[in-house]
Amino acid sequence: MSQATDTDATVADTGVIRSVSGPVVTATDLDARMNDVVYVGEEGLMGEVIEIEGDVTTIQVYEETSGVGPGEPVDNTGEPLTVDLGPGMLDTIYDGVQRPLDVLEEKMNSAFLDRGVDAPGIDLEEEWEFTPEVEEGDQVESGDVVGVVPETVTIDHKVMVPPDEEGGVVSETKEGTFTVEEPVVVLEDGTEITMHQEWPVRDKRPTVEKETPTTPLVSGQRILDGLFPLAKGGTAAIPGPFGSGKTVTQQSLAKFADADIVVYIGCGERGNEMTEVIEDFPELEDPKSGNDLMARTCLIANTSNMPVAARESCVYTGITIAEHYRDMGYDVALMADSTSRWAEAMREISSRLEEMPGEEGYPAYLAARLSQFYERAGYFQNVNGTEGSISVIGAVSPPGGDFSEPVTQNTLRIVKTFWALDSDLAERRHFPAINWNDSYSLYRDQLDDWFRDNVAEDWPDKRQWAVDTLDEEDELQEIVQLVGKDALPEDQRLTLEVARFLREAYLQQNALHDVDRYCPPEKTYDILGLIKTFNDEAFDALDAGVPVEEITSVDAAPKINRVATTPDDEYEAFVAEIEENLVEQLRALY
Ligand code: ADP
Repeated sequence: MSQATDTDATVADTGVIRSVSGPVVTATDLDARMNDVVYVGEEGLMGEVIEIEGDVTTIQVYEETSGVGPGEPVDNTGEPLTVDLGPGMLDTIYDGVQRPLDVLEEKMNSAFLDRGVDAPGIDLEEEWEFTPEVEEGDQVESGDVVGVVPETVTIDHKVMVPPDEEGGVVSETKEGTFTVEEPVVVLEDGTEITMHQEWPVRDKRPTVEKETPTTPLVSGQRILDGLFPLAKGGTAAIPGPFGSGKTVTQQSLAKFADADIVVYIGCGERGNEMTEVIEDFPELEDPKSGNDLMARTCLIANTSNMPVAARESCVYTGITIAEHYRDMGYDVALMADSTSRWAEAMREISSRLEEMPGEEGYPAYLAARLSQFYERAGYFQNVNGTEGSISVIGAVSPPGGDFSEPVTQNTLRIVKTFWALDSDLAERRHFPAINWNDSYSLYRDQLDDWFRDNVAEDWPDKRQWAVDTLDEEDELQEIVQLVGKDALPEDQRLTLEVARFLREAYLQQNALHDVDRYCPPEKTYDILGLIKTFNDEAFDALDAGVPVEEITSVDAAPKINRVATTPDDEYEAFVAEIEENLVEQLRALY
């Protein structure tokens, strides 16, 4: 993030530190505007103006402030906090203010610097192969693609006219290898277009229109695609009590969801968890291309031992990067883990500012900030005529798993999909531990047409049957707890058996199994169809007077549980075989 230009050259004004309280510093005699980036103290720690009252300017500082004291200078750059956008963001791990971690480490080790280190978000020296997509004499407008750069083995980076440039007639195009700062296309009025753009993180990048999303972000997870689908451009929340499978679920989504680009924001989770992510992700393979998953991923890592203000900014850094790829026409999946830590950072800064606290000490603007963030998700018509989407999946970590706390509650009011991870299910080793009674998706109806057209006409009907059966099981389980299973009438006992297949063969999915970790929607549908066939045939048998025990002991039944782990090119034959045997064996009972 940027100090794209040299600090000294852009200093607009210099003030003096009056007080320091953790990440919050006040200064006097500073001519500043809200959200200006400033450099604080002798060491030049990066900060941002968050309040101006008379002659006193309040700054949140993105680095540790110990040792900084009154009287030291504050330099204002006069520029808002921006991200550097351009090739090189993928396959990179940043901190919350877009400093590449590897560059930071290098600088810190070599020069014994630990603070005040600045590093551009993209490498200014690296050269990229640019191929123009416009010719001399072409008219280009704001946002238009003027050329491409193979950014990674998987992704082509589109070089665009920046949104704040009007465009014009192309007078020169270049082809070959260039750094991000060298002009690659020149317009008649002298405007030089480079591969590098800057954008203020707190402003959303312009689009033409936000459309109603009608395409699912297919995840390959049966419970999600089947029961609680997320739309491309949709919003989802996933609460993650410890050990409930949050990391595994998120990695499955990162790997298998049909997004072109993944932006993963690790926001202030415990240091070691984030280290896990930083170590794990670069090892992961992209199942679609066989390349490294990082070739289409940008990681932003802010551990809780990094300063609190950098946590506050990391979600904005992430979403601005996501918007840049959306502008290229890509479908981006952004995961923020966890938004609770982000909210806590807001709370801490707010309390330092002595603002009036709201619920549980969170600032009154918590709800507004959360909705401004999720608002940047969507399925968009871009300025350059392409369509792109940002789907946002925000993890929440409610203390003690209590969903009534303010961050969870405010998030639930905004997002349209809720995947309730449940520690009880995880304890029972039911994975993914997503509670089907508490979860929901408000996109279901608008995605039905897609599933009807692309998978099966009766997709919504079969899903409804599964939902009803699971609901019924839930009610019956309450009775079973009181009086035991044997006290139930036969038809209800049979319903429990059917529901057990739904849970074990359909909802459960082993993320660690080579085949089962990804389930195409067709297979999701077929497994459900098979359980429905069993249900229908079994109830016919019951009606004809066959006892439940006999029905459930036909030897084709347990095979239903093996479909999920049967390879994609073999499972259809296997499903057909089980179906045939089920019909034959169940009808033979009466
Ligand atoms: P969290 O991040 O919520 O603390 P993890 O994602 O690390 O939890 O999951 C804890 C353990 O649960 C994993 O090590 C794994 O053994 C198991 N697990 C979670 N989800 C699945 C899944 N979908 N399939 C198989 N095992 C799972």
